Amino acid sequence: MKINIIGGGTSGWWTAGYLRKNHPDVEITLIESPNIETVGVGESTMPNVRAFFEELNIPEEAWIKSCSGVRKEGNVKTNFNYVGDEPYNFMFIHSGFDEWYEKYSRGEVDKFSVYDLYDPDDWRGYAYHIDAAQAWQIVKEYTKDIKHILATVTRDELPEADLHIDCTGLGRHIIQDKTMYTYPDTLIDTCIVRRIEEDTKNYSETVGRDYGWDFNVYLSDKRVGCGYVFDSSKLSIDDAKKEYMNNNGHRKFLTDFRVLKWEPGRLKTPWQDNTVAVGLSVGFVEPMEANGLSLLIHQIKTLSKVLNKPNREKIYNRAVIKVFDEVADFIWHHYACTSRSDTSFWKHYAELDGKTTLLQRIQNNTNLKQNLYPSYVYAYLAIYYGIPNDKKKVDK
Ligand SMILES: Cc1cc2nc3c(=O)[nH]c(=O)nc-3n(C[C@H](O)[C@H](O)[C@H](O)COP(=O)(O)OP(=O)(O)OC[C@H]3O[C@@H](n4cnc5c(N)ncnc54)[C@H](O)[C@@H]3O)c2cc1C
Repeated sequence: MKINIIGGGTSGWWTAGYLRKNHPDVEITLIESPNIETVGVGESTMPNVRAFFEELNIPEEAWIKSCSGVRKEGNVKTNFNYVGDEPYNFMFIHSGFDEWYEKYSRGEVDKFSVYDLYDPDDWRGYAYHIDAAQAWQIVKEYTKDIKHILATVTRDELPEADLHIDCTGLGRHIIQDKTMYTYPDTLIDTCIVRRIEEDTKNYSETVGRDYGWDFNVYLSDKRVGCGYVFDSSKLSIDDAKKEYMNNNGHRKFLTDFRVLKWEPGRLKTPWQDNTVAVGLSVGFVEPMEANGLSLLIHQIKTLSKVLNKPNREKIYNRAVIKVFDEVADFIWHHYACTSRSDTSFWKHYAELDGKTTLLQRIQNNTNLKQNLYPSYVYAYLAIYYGIPNDKKKVDK
């Protein structure tokens, strides 16, 4: 089988590395533009990044250094419930959480005592902050025996192949039907991002702002990927920059702002005939909860599993869409449980009822081995939003 991978960012090279390892007989050509830059904002990740590199046989000490990586224990949120609410660290806690949550629901322990359960040695006990603009380079070094072409191509110029993998990012230059499925109430569609110099932290930070939220992702070389993601129908880029600087002007900036825009959602059909989208070309909801690279890894592994199956297109589309929709649902709950109504952005969400479905998600008792977002992850949100876990009030 001959495969073209078009795009050389994280999606292109991670896909090339994984397919090379798992399908040694496939002929792979990777075509990347020397002119179109990759996305790399300072990415906060989920724990599956570690397992992915293990599968590629690239040792942690090698890859973590190559992309200024830092082990991440959690994500601290504030200002999503109300302005000035108490920062709460959403840590990677698995063992003991359910028992603790029962006690918490009975009022026997306070919400901060959950931190005592944190164990970095637990299964999936940590993830990473990485620079995605660098995270593909080590995979490129380890990936041998592929043809590499530097060129900006259109679909008509592609070398003959059985399958084209569109890794061209938000531009989606290869996939033909670009019809998107969008999620109701997903408003964030723009990011202004810049780099700051500050000491490293092992947790990322997300701070609710007037029309979205600020993020800080700390890298090992004292660079911080930081910026403001917001709803561009309510706030101009210039006003976003002003608001950002009002809140962060005291910090030491290394770069000017870069602006990134996307249509929140996913392709209706990620695999179409002999072309499959992987990475940002499939879509992007928004950066909340570090989902981008996690979705990418899911897509790469799914593609690899189904590559030789007769109904590969159908399985891939079903699996990719399911996980994307779960991500969008989880993100929706981050806004739809708010008590804020201080701007038109938050008022929109304050009028939604996220609490009822949040409690349903918790009480469905799902576990992490079978679900992208198990019950306890939703329980964490309920704790942050001060939503009592009163089982009697909720229909399953
Ligand atoms: C604002 C923002 C914040 C994010 N935050 C996070 C986060 O915190 N955590 C997380 O996990 N993920 C995050 N992501 C997602 C993450 O950055 C991406 O999933 C990841 O970088 C992969 O991007 P990509 O390789 O699909 O696309 P890109 O990085 O855009 O790469 C596209 C590649 O295609 C090439 N190309 C484009 N057109 C052509 C052409 N015509 N011919 C040849 N080559 C071409 C380009 O040169 C480039 O090599 C974020 C994304 C955005 C936009």
